Amino acid sequence: MKRLALLIIVIAVAALSMAAESGSSSLPKYLHNVSSDDAPQYVKRVDTTIKRTLTAVVSAFPLPHMGGGHTVVISFGQSIGEDNQVHLGLDIGTPIGTPVMAAGNGTIVLTGFDEDDEFGNYVVIDHGNYVKTIYGHLSSFAGLHRGATVRTGGVIGYSGITGWVTDEALHFEIVYRERYVDPAIVLERLGELK
Ligand SMILES: [Zn+2]
Repeated sequence: MKRLALLIIVIAVAALSMAAESGSSSLPKYLHNVSSDDAPQYVKRVDTTIKRTLTAVVSAFPLPHMGGGHTVVISFGQSIGEDNQVHLGLDIGTPIGTPVMAAGNGTIVLTGFDEDDEFGNYVVIDHGNYVKTIYGHLSSFAGLHRGATVRTGGVIGYSGITGWVTDEALHFEIVYRERYVDPAIVLERLGELK
């Protein structure tokens, strides 16, 4: 009986890891910037402790230095699309092909193309301390694969217009404990946003 239980566990783990390798249906729940079925899970009140954690981890702007010249084209919480879905990141306008940089030290945990057409080409970095950042609408990748270590400011890809996007932009998300945080709260202090 014990052996059977063990076998079932082994099969379940194998099935789960296979699911993780394949299509968008198996993407982690946090990897959906729009949420029509579920109520959006976002951090409504970013208290000092959360802010301190996030600012320690997310320490660089994900696009090249422009001295306050970057424009947010779709903000966090804005309704988008035909179904009025909630936008759970920032779309920062930038010409196609702009280098996209890691906002902090971390490990690439996912890269791919979102078949649901939300993110387009995306990269997910795990920074530890329950913080992940997501970069979407990319035109191409910088050749880094899952498991690669990235340093703050390291190029992870190039901006584009893939996925659900109205204009050339980088979709940037911060996920803390599997919930979304308005990236503007964290990025503001870097002085790159208009
Ligand atoms: Zn977006």
